[in-house]
Amino acid sequence: GLALCIRAMLFVERNFTPRHVYLRGARVLRKDIAQKYNIAIDGPAGSGKSTIAKLLANDLGILYLDTGAMYRACALAALRAGVDITDEAAVILLMRSVCVNVTYEGGVQHTLLGTEDVTGLIREPEVSKAASAISKHESVRMKMAEMQREIAGKMSCVLDGRDIGTFVLPDADFKFFLTASPEVRARRRYDEFAAKGRAVDFEALKRDIIARDEQDSTRAIAPLKKADDAVMIDTSDMTVEEVLAALKNKMQEKI
Ligand code: C5P
Repeated sequence: GLALCIRAMLFVERNFTPRHVYLRGARVLRKDIAQKYNIAIDGPAGSGKSTIAKLLANDLGILYLDTGAMYRACALAALRAGVDITDEAAVILLMRSVCVNVTYEGGVQHTLLGTEDVTGLIREPEVSKAASAISKHESVRMKMAEMQREIAGKMSCVLDGRDIGTFVLPDADFKFFLTASPEVRARRRYDEFAAKGRAVDFEALKRDIIARDEQDSTRAIAPLKKADDAVMIDTSDMTVEEVLAALKNKMQEKI
């Protein structure tokens, strides 16, 4: 009944975004809005991490940090400089001068290389491959992880990647590991390219994704791996709405 009511949701008129109003200090019961907290979402390529992380961050009104974009920017820098990505010494040298940054415009992450906005360029398939190859190197991982910890230390955010729950933020408040069959993951990437009017070969895309996962899971430093305390969700047969609801339920259970 109303006497016990701690949260009222008011619909003022149609098309009005409902706001949750917490009564009698009940806000402290919502760990997720009462203090700074971080949500780690890890998983292989195409598992739905970025879609879900974006929606969740938007829903909670917190920042979304796409950590893959940072590795992609390093890869683009290496490709442009003609650096042999398998040459550790050359990558170390490159990383001394590479300046990756993220900014936000209207809540959307933009990835910068120096002052250049490379948000669109880093989505090219050759950059994906190079990102997986360059992210093996300690010099790259340490620099990126440090930046990610700095951002996550300042504000509540959802971070998606491969090693957030295991290495970057082992003490993250909420941890998820999303997965899906290679077929489904390749299909999602294929559809993304198709939506942009890009024709790509489905089988080649699938091979690339499997090769990238293999490389990401078997590297020596901070490999793609589910943290022991992460909640695993297989998104193969789930809609975006279902995955989002599953995450929110798990968070609510923990709170
Ligand atoms: O997530 P996305 O596909 O954009 O990531 C590109 C590549 O960056 C991955 O294949 C992986 O090798 C690397 N990566 C990583 N650690 C992260 C995020 C991405 O090694 N936290």
